[in-house]
Amino acid sequence: MDAIGKAAPFSLFISDLHLCPSRPAITTQFLKFLKSTAPNAESLYILGDFFEYWAGDDDLYDETHASIISGLKTLSRTQTKLYFMHGNRDFLLGQKFADATGINLLSDPVLLDCYGKRILLTHGDMFCTDDVSYQEFRRQVRNPDWQNSFLRQPLTIRKAQIEALRKQSETAKSTKAESIMDVNPDAVAAMIREHQFPELLIHGHTHRPAKHMLEIDGHHCERWVLGDWYEQGSYLILDENGCHSINNG
Ligand code: MN
Repeated sequence: MDAIGKAAPFSLFISDLHLCPSRPAITTQFLKFLKSTAPNAESLYILGDFFEYWAGDDDLYDETHASIISGLKTLSRTQTKLYFMHGNRDFLLGQKFADATGINLLSDPVLLDCYGKRILLTHGDMFCTDDVSYQEFRRQVRNPDWQNSFLRQPLTIRKAQIEALRKQSETAKSTKAESIMDVNPDAVAAMIREHQFPELLIHGHTHRPAKHMLEIDGHHCERWVLGDWYEQGSYLILDENGCHSINNG
């Protein structure tokens, strides 16, 4: 609080909510967060894997999505700006979703200036270069031609294909070493160099919330990893004093 009792401006960062009908408590938790915490922020950044999966913007009117879309829309009509970066689960989310909710789509990665600091945002899956089969899959599904031909199929077929892929991926994950699914330090360093040494790097994806103090070529960088929302709400606050993370029930 400053002298006139006004809280200092801050921004919020979340990722990996994996919202889906089979985990309704997380949706409830998120809607509560949208009403109680987010309206005080200047900006809310959603850094991917917001949905467990997104089959295409023609799924916008599914009744399980209605409360989420209307909650985002309500917030976007206030002073809080909403930003969305794709994750590996919701990369098919597009401009129709953005128009319906008032979010602004961000590319991955993106460099921002926030409260006097240079901040690099990314979902985080690009760092998992040790998982060669995943990176190959990522190249395929991020290709616009692949996406267009996938989206030309009926929604029910797409959903069935995604379900099958998710089962395959669960099986694959159970046989992969934990270390393969974490970030590769060289990939992190390369992205930090490429963006001229930002002071902060914020990402999700690995579900390993932590603050890592890095030194790359003599430059300090804090790497903040966002937590998932499987058991609780989890977000990062950034203000002029820096970052801190909050978990709430
Ligand atoms: Mn992810």
